[in-house]
Amino acid sequence: MSELDIYNELIMDHAMNSSNKKELKNFDHCELGHNPNCGDEIKLEIKLSDDKKYINDMAFSGHGCAISQASTSIMIDTLKGKSIEEAKKIIDVYIKMIRRENISQEDEKLLNEAIAFKNVSNMPARVKCALLAWHTLEDILNK
Ligand code: ZN
Repeated sequence: MSELDIYNELIMDHAMNSSNKKELKNFDHCELGHNPNCGDEIKLEIKLSDDKKYINDMAFSGHGCAISQASTSIMIDTLKGKSIEEAKKIIDVYIKMIRRENISQEDEKLLNEAIAFKNVSNMPARVKCALLAWHTLEDILNK
């Protein structure tokens, strides 16, 4: 299998059957994200640690294209357990990757499975789908 096939399979796995698609029993913030270009909608729930420095848990619900749903699920896997500062850094690297800006190899490693969306940067119609969850979380963390 080529690297592209592996990425596509990972995206389809997360889009079809995500363990992160659920409701949290309690959460600190809940934010809705909407991409009218494609009709993608997500609701993101986040539970912080008591000192508000770490992301203890996240979950999402929603509907839309495979890219929007899978990027939400993979974002949760990538950022759960990270500190707010680390999460902000990784969000920044991801957005740069999708916008085809230069990122260092060291920064690229921070993305973990989210690197699977690298090829979306070649599909302008899908860019907003891939950024929806990440911008939504960025809004929460900047509050
Ligand atoms: Zn979409």
